[in-house]
Amino acid sequence: MFKPFEYLRPKSITEAVELGVTYGSEAQYMAGGTDVLVNLKNKPQKALKFIITLRYVNDQLNYIKLEDRYLKIGALTTHRDLEKSALIQREYQVLHDAVSQVGSVQIRNVATIGGNICSSLPSADTASPLLVLGAQLKIMGQDGEKVVALEDFYLGHAQNILNKGDILTEIIIPPKKSYAAGKYYKLGRRGAMELPLVGAAVYLVMDKNLDLCLDARVALTTAAPVPLPAKKAAQELVGKPISPDNLTKAGKIAVQEASPRTSLRTTAAYRREVLPVLVRRAGLEAYERIKQNRN
Ligand SMILES: Cc1cc2nc3c(=O)[nH]c(=O)nc-3n(C[C@H](O)[C@H](O)[C@H](O)COP(=O)(O)OP(=O)(O)OC[C@H]3O[C@@H](n4cnc5c(N)ncnc54)[C@H](O)[C@@H]3O)c2cc1C
Repeated sequence: MFKPFEYLRPKSITEAVELGVTYGSEAQYMAGGTDVLVNLKNKPQKALKFIITLRYVNDQLNYIKLEDRYLKIGALTTHRDLEKSALIQREYQVLHDAVSQVGSVQIRNVATIGGNICSSLPSADTASPLLVLGAQLKIMGQDGEKVVALEDFYLGHAQNILNKGDILTEIIIPPKKSYAAGKYYKLGRRGAMELPLVGAAVYLVMDKNLDLCLDARVALTTAAPVPLPAKKAAQELVGKPISPDNLTKAGKIAVQEASPRTSLRTTAAYRREVLPVLVRRAGLEAYERIKQNRN
């Protein structure tokens, strides 16, 4: 059962920030509510006095657009809108891999990318793809607007740098490089309505002959208290051809960077076992995508 709370309906981002500042830890923003409402029900001891819905600022924060080759996604954009976007399908396949696997169609119809980021769970499916894409976040707060790198956003399990009243407004992805693509692999026990037991995203930038890897990024899901950039693993791939052997080495390094835990869903040992496999597969698939996109 829900404990009673007051439902506040700001009509502008400024008003929402003001309400967030005024009510502080007694209040919580709600976008799609797929995390907020589950938590309200499952953790009644954490009952809030105020829910500040972002529904009435939806028009301002719901978009997918290219500006000067930067991809800009409004924080209230749903996973389903991202999944259906031709631009995301074509140019940002690694993100499409993630948004098209969140929950179910019903969940994706209401759950937002901003909510997925702000819940700040290591199991958030969009986090690893956004990390390998070099995403930045635009945040509006009582002192104005700032932009931070996604990798500096997470502080710990379900913790982030948002201050009282701060609202994530936009996700910014830097211009796409030539001969570049990524892949996100999510491992779950079943095909839908499943948080990842573990996941890995690999993003590669190749030279024009596709012989040498010029840049690489690897990020891991449910492998540490936060979504984890595996920088040493990525470094292992740079300056070399992409091959199963090199990706196997990178996968082994990635698992050394990880610190998975045993949870209700699976054990740390299992997560360690499968992470290198996911890194290798994601790397091979990313490379295949670069080849296909070139043809
Ligand atoms: C059945 C089910 C299946 C699920 N499956 C998956 C899955 O496969 N993969 C996965 O990653 N997740 C999954 N989830 C979790 C959830 O759906 C996602 O995390 C979702 O993206 C959250 O978005 P939301 O809009 O519903 O967020 P909300 O629940 O509205 O908010 C989540 C948190 O973010 C804060 N917040 C939201 N928007 C903003 C903003 N713009 N600025 C500041 N703070 C904000 C809220 O205050 C709250 O703390 C599942 C949930 C359910 C119920």
